[in-house]
Parts: sequence; C-alpha cells; structure tokens
Amino acid sequence: MKNPDSERVLRAVEMAKKAHDGQFRKTGEPYIVHPLAVKKILEEWGMDEDTIIAGILHDTIEDTPLTLNDIKQEFGESVAFLVDGVTKLSTARNGMRDIDTYLPETKDNFLRLMIALGSDIRVLIIKLADRLHNLRTLSALPPDKQKKIAKESLEVFAPLADRLNMGLLRVEMADLAFKYVDPRRYEQLKNLIERYNKSAAKSLQKIEEEVSEALRKEKINFTISGRVKSVYSLHKKLAKHNQNMGEIYDLTALRVIVDDITDCYLTLGVIHSLYTPMGGRIKDYIAMPKQNGYQSLHTTVITKDKRVVEFQIRTKEMHEYAERGLAASFYYNEQKVTENYKKGKIEHLPTNLLWITELQTTAARLREGKKVDLKKLKLNLFSDKIFVYTPKGDIIDLPVGAMPLDFAYRLHSEIGDHVVGVKINGKMSNMNKKLEQGDIVEILTSKNQTPKISWLDRIITPHARQKLLRALKLRPSENETSIPPLKKK
Ligand code: MN
Repeated sequence: MKNPDSERVLRAVEMAKKAHDGQFRKTGEPYIVHPLAVKKILEEWGMDEDTIIAGILHDTIEDTPLTLNDIKQEFGESVAFLVDGVTKLSTARNGMRDIDTYLPETKDNFLRLMIALGSDIRVLIIKLADRLHNLRTLSALPPDKQKKIAKESLEVFAPLADRLNMGLLRVEMADLAFKYVDPRRYEQLKNLIERYNKSAAKSLQKIEEEVSEALRKEKINFTISGRVKSVYSLHKKLAKHNQNMGEIYDLTALRVIVDDITDCYLTLGVIHSLYTPMGGRIKDYIAMPKQNGYQSLHTTVITKDKRVVEFQIRTKEMHEYAERGLAASFYYNEQKVTENYKKGKIEHLPTNLLWITELQTTAARLREGKKVDLKKLKLNLFSDKIFVYTPKGDIIDLPVGAMPLDFAYRLHSEIGDHVVGVKINGKMSNMNKKLEQGDIVEILTSKNQTPKISWLDRIITPHARQKLLRALKLRPSENETSIPPLKKK
C-alpha cells in the first residue's frame, strides 16, 4: 500500500505542473505526465522523499524557466543537488548524441559521466527511472530517434542497471529497447522462448514437484518457481555461442528460494542427488559474488527425461537484492542488508554498498557545509577499478592490478586460451605488465597456442582463473559440451 503523498511531494507536483504548463510530449499528452510517471517508478523502487521530489522536478531546469535557486529555496540543498546532477548528466549526454560515434572515443566522456553519476548515486537512479519511462513510451517518437534512444539504452543504461544489480529494471529496459533496435530478431527469439516454454511446461512441473517433495523430506523451507529468460539475454548468449541453441542451457531455469546460506548448499545437494549435474556448470556466486554483488548458486542438471534445466538457489535477501539491487538496498533496506550481513545471512556485503555508504556520508557532509575533499572521493570511488579499451574502443572494467591475460579472458575464453602476446597502447608488451587506467589493449592470438599452467601467475581475476583452470583440465578437448557430465554419487 502506498502512503499518501506528503505535503512536500504535493508541493513539488504543483510546482512542476505550473512550470511545464503548456508543454506537451510527443505522445500528445501534457508534459507533466512524464515527471509524474517518473515519480511513480521511484516510489515503486522505495526511494526516499528527496529523490522522489527531485524526480518530479528533474526536467524543470532544462526545459522551463525554473532555476536551481528556486528549487533550493523551496525544497532545500539536497533536492537541488539531485536535480542539478540529473540536468548535468543530460547536458553531458548531449555532447555524445550517437552511440555509434561516441563509443570509440568515450574515454573522457564516459569517465566524466561516471563521476557525475557517482557524486550521488540517487542521481543515477532518477536518470534510470527517467529512461525507463521514455522507453515505455518510445513508440511516439520518429523511427530514427527510437533507434538512437533504444541503442543507447542497451549499451549504456541497461548495463548500468546491471552494475547496480537492479535485475528487474535491466531486463525490462533491455527487452523494451531491443524490440526497437532489431524488431525482427526480437519477435523471432520471443516466439522461440514461448514455444520452448510451452513444450517444457509439463516436464518442468514434474521436476518442480520432485524437487519440492525431496526438499520437504529434508525439512527445508523453500519456494520454487520458474524464471523465463529475457529475449535480449538470449540474443547476447546466442551471439557468444555462434548461434548454437545447443549451447544454451538456461533457457528454462527454476529458482529455489530458501531461508539461509546453509539451506542453499543443502538444496544444491538435494538437486544433485535427484539429477545428474553437468560438469563445469556449477557456479557458486555465494562464495564468489559477481562484481555487482549478485549472489546465488547455479547448477545445470540433466533430468530423467533428458531435459537440461538450470537451477538458481538463493536466500530471500539475495533474491530481493538480485531483483531490485541498489534501489532495494538504498533507503531503508540498506540497514537490513547491513544487519543481515552482521548476522551472517549474507556472507559478502555487496561491494557497491560500501562505496555508496561512503558517498552518502560525504554527501551529508557536503549538505552540512563541512569540508570535503572531492578529489579524493572521486579517486576512491574508482580506486578499485580501471577502465581499459579494446582497439575497437569497447570499454572493459577490471580490478586494479589486472594483467593482459585477465583482459583476454574477460573478452572471451577462446581469446584467453590462445594468447601469444599483447600490445599496450600500440607497443608490444610483457604479459606480466599491470594494466593501467585508459590503456588500449590488443591481444595477439594464435590457433596453435595452448593454455599454460604458468599463466596462473599472470592472472589476478577469479573469472580468468576459473576459465584457465577449466581449459587446463579440459585439454586436449576444446569443446565443453563433449565432456561427459559428472557421475551421480
Ligand atoms: Mn525526463
């Protein structure tokens, strides 16, 4: 149930209505429909009042006679700060209109963008809500604008949502946008997913029942449900696997949500005692969370009727965080996440929460008029990460200290396995060399190269390490699917 709007929020709505009076959207509706939709999205995400007010006013500085000072007078420093951030962000974006032209030379723009965002994460969250509503109403724009906005959403905003672990938002944004970027492909894959799910429905239900019964026997408290793969993530995965549907193991997945971490591992055991796990497809994101803080156990099994099914097992807290990410943890839930962490319900505090806490503290100091070393803050924000580039201009973020092999495996395990050399900023370089912020890295490969054990010393990311270990174990076979699954215990 939604709380009634506070007096401050009502005042902001009035102010925005007056400011946008006489303006219309491309849909023909009065402009105010848009800020009100953004307000609603932010409320659904559980954001705080200042963020909601800033969301209502987010387009006023750019498009109406209202000034930042007006907003400051009326709603205080914090709201003004947020509106200013969103306005600056859209100004920055104006300088890099077309994603096709800006990707190769994003270096400065992108970092500037990130720093602008980083000064208060709520700026980013407002921007995401703004973009989500624009995507939902994209059909009103002319086709060339649709494509441009859709493409940018796919390549910048959906990945940002992912970075914040806002899973629901990422999926909605990516699928909305992909429909415009490649309508035929979208329809094709959507149909494929629907047909597949229809044909799998019956046997999935049986699997669900079998697993439920086994879990009840073990006295594990759980809920189980199917999750449908998004169209865009299927598209991306197919691209990665040469359009080979046989390589897609997670078209159908069942999600099991349990009370605590111990039950996660127990559940994994129960599932493996029922079905044959596929070798190399057990992923422990609880012990090793993804960079965005995502935690879950994944396993792919072969059922009795030869169906390949992925299971995702996680606690309620992990699930909430996976779906709503930062927005879920930002406001009241941040405390909850921190508490759960202390109680041991979550083993790793999502790394982004740490820097957000830091940001909040700094933002509060700013508001109180205390001195803050912004330079230090910005550095801190990204001190654990560097951004490097492929010769084509794609941006890859890696932890500080990453080496060429980390980079190569990040691109693709095929590239990693066949590295013979590296050029950094156009010059041949050593494989032991630590990559630095802004390096342009070109990996040289040869078909005849094979992975070496000694490479383990030239790798620092768990991702690359895992890929290399797998490659070493799998030699001489190149093909993951040709490896027989683990024997059932
Ligand atoms: Mn807007």
